[in-house]
Amino acid sequence: MNKAALTGRFAVGDCACVLPHIRGVAAGAAWTMPPISNKLLAALPRAALRDVLPVLAPVTLVLGDVLHEPGQPLRHVYFPLTCLVSLIVVVEDQLALEVALVGREGVVGVSLVLGADLSPVRAVVQGGGTALRVTKAALRTALRDHAPLQNVLRRYANTLIGEIARTAGCNRFHLLEARLARWLLMTRDRMESSDFRMTQEFLSTMLGVRRVGISDAASSFQRRHLIEYSRGHITILDHEGLEAASCSCYAHDAADVRALPAWRPAAA
Ligand SMILES: [Zn+2]
Repeated sequence: MNKAALTGRFAVGDCACVLPHIRGVAAGAAWTMPPISNKLLAALPRAALRDVLPVLAPVTLVLGDVLHEPGQPLRHVYFPLTCLVSLIVVVEDQLALEVALVGREGVVGVSLVLGADLSPVRAVVQGGGTALRVTKAALRTALRDHAPLQNVLRRYANTLIGEIARTAGCNRFHLLEARLARWLLMTRDRMESSDFRMTQEFLSTMLGVRRVGISDAASSFQRRHLIEYSRGHITILDHEGLEAASCSCYAHDAADVRALPAWRPAAA
């Protein structure tokens, strides 16, 4: 893991907004709801969020950071704010295939919520950005004390299981071009941006295919003016066109994410 990236820097995005509020809680100052882009945290009732925020440490993550390894203890859980994390299954210590994407709609390390201590997958940052990190002990205490936190994270765990299962079927039954379209749309939804950096080499690893296959599919999308791809920078030009090119899995993914608990201003 890139340790330098986990030193609690919080210069960008939401972290800069969240930190003063956390300090305000510690100092006993008047507390107002901070803006939090992680959908699960934002869905918590006000009182639960107020109690949970002080145990969350802002971290900046960079492309390639490995947060969890299969079979290794889960020491931290990460709530993405602006970063994107791939969950990857590792076969025979050599072959790797992405099974799920986690952005601000989710949490990385949800197995802890379900009582497991070891990670079943490798978690790798594929879009650099910020996250809020909590230790295993602090999370377990918060789960014990706050039923809403437990409920929200368990709901997400079920959604994630659905995504992983769907991805298994997608990899087996759907064509590469449709899978790539699904993947680009899922990334867009989680980053909340139509522009992101992604090399063909990384995409080929994520989708478990040869690089030439990714190159052909991306070229096809460019000819149809669905995307623009240049030197590792992808821009989605035609969202509806890309949705039409994707397999049916994307619509299910999007519906499942929309069904997660939405932010609501609950009573303290
Ligand atoms: Zn599919």
